[in-house]
Amino acid sequence: MTYPYSKHVASNKSVLNPEQRSEDISELKSQEFDLLIIGGGVVGSGIALDAAARGLKVALVESDDFAAGTSSRSSKLIHGGLRYLEQFDFKLVREALHEREMMITDQAPHLVKPLSFVYPLHKKYLDRIYVGAGLMLYDLLRGKLRAVPWHRYITFGEMRNEVRSLNPELVTGGLVYFDAQVDDARHTVTVARTAKDHGAYIVTGATVRQITRTPEGITGAVVEVDGENINVKSKVVIAAAGIWNEELYEQFGIKPGYKIKMSKGVHIILPKDAIDAKTGIIIKTSLSVLFIIPWGNEWLLGTTDTNYTGDREYPVAESSDVDYIINEANKVLLPKIRREQILSIYAGLRPLVSPAKDSSTTKISREHTVDHPLKGFVSIAGGKYTTYRVMAADAVDAAIKDIKRSVPKSSTKSIPLLGAAGYRNLVKQIPGLAQSYSVSTACVERMLNRYGSLISDIFQMIAKDADLANEIVPGAGYIKAEVLYAVTHEGARSLVDVMARRLRIAMEHSSHGLGVSREIAEMIAPILGWSATDIHREVLGYEGFIATEMAAMR
Ligand SMILES: Cc1cc2nc3c(=O)[nH]c(=O)nc-3n(C[C@H](O)[C@H](O)[C@H](O)COP(=O)(O)OP(=O)(O)OC[C@H]3O[C@@H](n4cnc5c(N)ncnc54)[C@H](O)[C@@H]3O)c2cc1C
Repeated sequence: MTYPYSKHVASNKSVLNPEQRSEDISELKSQEFDLLIIGGGVVGSGIALDAAARGLKVALVESDDFAAGTSSRSSKLIHGGLRYLEQFDFKLVREALHEREMMITDQAPHLVKPLSFVYPLHKKYLDRIYVGAGLMLYDLLRGKLRAVPWHRYITFGEMRNEVRSLNPELVTGGLVYFDAQVDDARHTVTVARTAKDHGAYIVTGATVRQITRTPEGITGAVVEVDGENINVKSKVVIAAAGIWNEELYEQFGIKPGYKIKMSKGVHIILPKDAIDAKTGIIIKTSLSVLFIIPWGNEWLLGTTDTNYTGDREYPVAESSDVDYIINEANKVLLPKIRREQILSIYAGLRPLVSPAKDSSTTKISREHTVDHPLKGFVSIAGGKYTTYRVMAADAVDAAIKDIKRSVPKSSTKSIPLLGAAGYRNLVKQIPGLAQSYSVSTACVERMLNRYGSLISDIFQMIAKDADLANEIVPGAGYIKAEVLYAVTHEGARSLVDVMARRLRIAMEHSSHGLGVSREIAEMIAPILGWSATDIHREVLGYEGFIATEMAAMR
């Protein structure tokens, strides 16, 4: 077999690719680790980074792909959570706002971007006093040192200019406030790569089947990789499997210190021209709030909040979820949005945690729960994307109690994610870079917001093969080099990984890239060692994935 693109398989220590994966599988077989982490969502990846940065020997195993669970299916907001103010949970809001600030300024300025929202006012004075007081508190909880502007009032006229699509007969003005936004799946893989860069061993497509133990405590776990069961030795095992944690407790025969309730949240994606607005919109609904969020050339609308007891693997939106979002949005939008405008839909499951009645092992905050029921086993669940770094530090703090040596405190506050260093300088060079690599300035800008200073890897690929600067789906904004990069550097192992999580063609483009899925599979096949049969299977798998996501439209 020839490997035409193998020249792009880099070997620096932060890459995730087939070669790295097989090396790390060998390490799983031969080494003893301080920590074995179950789950490659944002929390598990954050734990791997936190622990590796403290000098611990860390392995992370993920049964599917990075962010394949809840971490690719959020509202993609890095926020304090305005609604927690109504519950007087000021500590939580302050903590999340602090995290938001650090991400925008130092940790991930390439990935986490400030975003404005308008809160439409219906009753001019009453709403303004009540909501304004809440937003003032929200701003004050962050304090003076801030990366985003303070909230402000806008008049009816300014409102019409900012958000033309709000029904003028219903709104009297608005309040503009700021939070931030992130591509969650891309952020998670960047956290995982940063963990790798700090020395973590990382294997996706690896499922923990059982925990191993002696009367003294946990000794590791049995991990199934590529059909083989490996006994991975570790001083501590940390379950960071989100909604799957409860299942793991049952499998391991360990009494959980908390219960997980799954709550389904659905989003729909609309084209930019469906809503005329220069900012995001937040609408209060009878149940919660609805966000209308700018997302590149699209709008992301959500979310719902319904009890869920179905399959964890494939949470699917139902027609009634879609109706709810459209109906709530149409209470204020004019022209009204229509079902046939929907480009795509996704559903995610929130792991909502509550304490088990008779547990003495849990340390519960409103946000997340760390459970340490026996020596060598820690689990963490709940919380939200925004506070993953704090959650990770808390989990590692609990785990090191079972490691008999002195371990430093968490240092992730001052660790920028890969791609952050040098990002701001590159932003100043966009026109020059576009000219040098024969791509548009829009393309460079977009890639900088996805890769930061790692964009140099992509440029190196283009320098070797100019064809890689061409778009893969006309109008979708992704170039061929990014497809290859997903498998040579970012650990993608399937067509779904590439199309749905490294690139976002699955959710952003009306065709979902189905017309080019074979071409993309053929491009990555040599790197992943796929045969013609494998390519066929992957294309069918991707078609099935899209059919499931879009089921609510039938
Ligand atoms: C609709 C919705 C909207 C949201 N919006 C926001 C938002 O705007 N802002 C915000 O801050 N938060 C938001 N959240 C919350 C946030 O997305 C989650 O808190 C976060 O993503 C959870 O991450 P996690 O790593 O704990 O779980 P997950 O991302 O689910 O990761 C768990 C991983 O464990 C793996 N796994 C399971 N079993 C095993 C096993 N046996 N072996 C190996 N691996 C295994 C799974 O494959 C999975 O990848 C939202 C959530 C939802 C559902």
